[in-house]
Amino acid sequence: RKKIAIMTSGGDSPGMNAVVRSCVRMAIHMGCDAYCVYEGYEGLVRGGDFIKQMDWFDVRGWLSEGGTLIGTARCMAFYERAGRLTAAKNMILNGIDALIICGGDGSLTGADRFRAEWPSLLEELVSTGELTAEQIQAYKHLNIVGIVGSIDNDLSGTDATVGCYSALARICLCIDMIEATASSHSRAFVVEVMGRHCGWLALMAAVATGADFLFIPEKPREDNWREEMRSVIQQHRRLGKRKTIVLIAEGALDKFGNKITPEEVRDLLADKNGLALDTRITTLGHVQRGGTAVAYDRMLATLQGVEAVKAVLEATPETKTCFIAITENKIVRKPLMEAVLDTKQVAKAIESQDFDGAMALRDAEFSE
Ligand code: ADP
Repeated sequence: RKKIAIMTSGGDSPGMNAVVRSCVRMAIHMGCDAYCVYEGYEGLVRGGDFIKQMDWFDVRGWLSEGGTLIGTARCMAFYERAGRLTAAKNMILNGIDALIICGGDGSLTGADRFRAEWPSLLEELVSTGELTAEQIQAYKHLNIVGIVGSIDNDLSGTDATVGCYSALARICLCIDMIEATASSHSRAFVVEVMGRHCGWLALMAAVATGADFLFIPEKPREDNWREEMRSVIQQHRRLGKRKTIVLIAEGALDKFGNKITPEEVRDLLADKNGLALDTRITTLGHVQRGGTAVAYDRMLATLQGVEAVKAVLEATPETKTCFIAITENKIVRKPLMEAVLDTKQVAKAIESQDFDGAMALRDAEFSE
């Protein structure tokens, strides 16, 4: 019987439990044993109780649970070969040679590295006497499949990551609440949302709530953004709007690479010689990550979990490490490292203020 392990790693996102439920049940449905690794790579390195076999009913009700019930962690040990060596040993001791990882680009990079090193890790375990040649006999190849769990929707090559629509829904809900009070007092609110290198959440929230002005990392405003913002908001106020919402992605920069701070924007809106609006700042913070997953994320997580198990069962030593994407509404497998490298290039382009380059990379589908 094939033994497949599932883990969640890196930053949590709504829908991760639905991924675990789907993988566990699909694995069992396909006649395999399903395992969960608790606390991300930390659990793989520690072994023992951190690796548990799951049955069908262990994941009952997980579709509607927020966060990740099997825990997630950042694991320093896994960055080092020694940590990955112990992880490999723990996998073999549990009879596991297939791993489905739900996490962000960091976790998926770690997974690919682990797979690439696997044969040499096994060699070392035998040469140092940790395991015998017989013990590693059936585990010559490590099979890894990724599912992208992230609220930022920041991975190239997929239209949506598990969790992004839940975070977006939460942001819209919060802005609706802020708007009610803004309107009552005729106030302005500067709302900061998550997204370091990716303005997807801020952009989609601005569209979905009809925000007055927006700052995202990928497209800095022109030099005269202060005047532009004042004139746009003045115009909206002239038309009788009693509330003003300015959205800022946490990674938003100006053309010179300086961070756009909520404080500066507030001071501009409140300037007695300008708009003179009573202005408050709201940083949404971790409410964006929490809570239950919206229907879309549950559906995406379930379909991708099913596909991930299929990918594990169909993989050969020659297949590249893949992740499960959604492209034009279809669940598809894509090569993992191309997507990760593309994502890193976008972040680099933004950091070096090559914004056109970043946009071109986002628009282009990486070659497979
Ligand atoms: P995310 O998956 O959300 O991007 P991180 O970048 O923090 O989050 O990665 C989560 C964990 O994945 C890290 O704590 C580490 O254990 C592992 N990891 C990330 N990058 C690597 C890497 N290059 N090599 C080995 N392990 C890695």
